[in-house]
Amino acid sequence: MSADNWAICPQCNPARKRAEELANLESLYGKISLYDFKDRMAEFQLKSSADSIGLGDNTLREDYEIGVNDTGEFEIVYSCRCNTCGFVFTFKHKQQLTKPNDTSTQKRDEEAPKASKRNSRR
Ligand SMILES: [Zn+2]
Repeated sequence: MSADNWAICPQCNPARKRAEELANLESLYGKISLYDFKDRMAEFQLKSSADSIGLGDNTLREDYEIGVNDTGEFEIVYSCRCNTCGFVFTFKHKQQLTKPNDTSTQKRDEEAPKASKRNSRR
């Protein structure tokens, strides 16, 4: 792989989880004792600041490669994996490109689908 990047995981998204946790915590206001509420809020804030010291929210490692090789084949390879939840995604695509100077090949490719479309209508 020629390139890599760290991104936010679409599955576990730590920032969204923290926002949900905070909303849940705030909904407890007035329902539990003020002492318990302050205690839980302090615990949440401590945990949130500890999270930001580590990898932060970018837990998704991305590796990708894109290009054309010397035989005219275009290839894209992408994979990502989350360090927190294990979310994995991979994508691969290969396609032979038509040579720019070879017009006979391009014409043949363009004519072929049209002919088959006409045939299917009849
Ligand atoms: Zn994740």
